[in-house]
Amino acid sequence: MTLTYQLDADAEQFLAVVKDFCTSRVAPRAQDIDLGAEFFPSLLADAAEIGLQGLIFADDGSIDPTMFALAHETTELIASYSGAVALGISIARLHGYLLAAYAPADVRDRWLPGLIDGSQRGAFALSEPHSGTDIRAGRTVAMPVGADTVSITGEKAWITQSPEAHFVIVLTKLGSADRDAPTAAFVVPMDTPGVTVGKDEPMSGFRGMPMANVHFDDCRIPSAWRLDVDGFRGMLEGLNLARLDAGCYAVGFIRAALREAGAYVRDRQAFGSSLAELQIVQEKLGRMHADYLAARSLLREGVASFAAGGGGDAHLISAAKMFATDAAMRHVVEAVQLHGGYGVHLHYPVQRLMRDAKITQIIDGTSEIHALMLGRAAVRADWA
Ligand SMILES: Cc1cc2nc3c(=O)[nH]c(=O)nc-3n(C[C@H](O)[C@H](O)[C@H](O)COP(=O)(O)OP(=O)(O)OC[C@H]3O[C@@H](n4cnc5c(N)ncnc54)[C@H](O)[C@@H]3O)c2cc1C
Repeated sequence: MTLTYQLDADAEQFLAVVKDFCTSRVAPRAQDIDLGAEFFPSLLADAAEIGLQGLIFADDGSIDPTMFALAHETTELIASYSGAVALGISIARLHGYLLAAYAPADVRDRWLPGLIDGSQRGAFALSEPHSGTDIRAGRTVAMPVGADTVSITGEKAWITQSPEAHFVIVLTKLGSADRDAPTAAFVVPMDTPGVTVGKDEPMSGFRGMPMANVHFDDCRIPSAWRLDVDGFRGMLEGLNLARLDAGCYAVGFIRAALREAGAYVRDRQAFGSSLAELQIVQEKLGRMHADYLAARSLLREGVASFAAGGGGDAHLISAAKMFATDAAMRHVVEAVQLHGGYGVHLHYPVQRLMRDAKITQIIDGTSEIHALMLGRAAVRADWA
């Protein structure tokens, strides 16, 4: 595969280590993780040993923006072997990012080292049972109790990794559930009285990564465990990072589709030649290849904008996420088609790519909402 840019030698060396981790540790387990919905703490520990979760943090726990490009490169590579494992690693970086950027020092120091060494896990809770896209409709409320305590009550839905998490970063309204009430984000240990995690939800994609609803019933924590940013704004910044990750999973799925479909059509004989000789097959792979390069390039621009600060260029990140995830969905369906009946056999990875790619079009803002935001911007923009 031709890359469109050069990494420096240290980054190339690190990627070689990550590739070895993928082929020797992730690939042999990817099918069991998926079919058995098996969580994978030992792989997360191995990843932490290589330094994957800690990649974007300096030794003093601050954020090192110069490492974002490499971090996203690793996400694409790992996702091409297992979406669930890539998700487990990149959400540790997401939670760590929010702690390092906005948590009080004692809260950051309580959780960040464990995220980096793989011994602790977090969760990121915005969505509610009645509101996903419409985040402002959230009804989870933090009420002050005396001078130093808040009581959180509400329910968050679809919370990735919550059954295995040690803490959750939760978006709340302050004082009332009104649509325009001020918002805050709190870091809540999962063993706080009043926090309960619902049953593990059976999902079709990213299987092996557990998810559940999280209930807060008069859950009392120090008000100081609040992120130092308007809740909505801070979570949107986190969402921008999560959108770049989702785009990278999607690009990883296109890369896997090229790998799997390429090998299959080279090998499979029909009517006296390999499928790879057929122009209609070459055309499908050609479009896959082009979209792989295009999606990667757009994501690299999005990552660079995030690394530059201020939460990144929201429109660029929306465009990259939407383009990559929609392209992935199209191409993994083509990869399944190119495998014929084997494409829908549960022991062939391409059908897993199809289930995982579908999820990337839904999480972190659906393709529709990104198109809507980009459309509004397009109408207002000066295209002269
Ligand atoms: C595997 C998985 C993991 C997740 N992990 C997390 C997590 O860790 N934390 C978290 O907070 N959430 C998480 N979510 C929730 C996810 O972010 C939401 O599912 C997503 O935002 C969509 O919200 P919804 O499901 O409520 O759909 P809805 O908002 O009800 O949307 C339903 C449909 O209506 C469309 N729609 C809605 N509004 C508009 C509009 N204005 N214009 C056009 N179309 C519109 C949508 O595009 C969609 O097609 C996860 C979801 C999944 C599936």
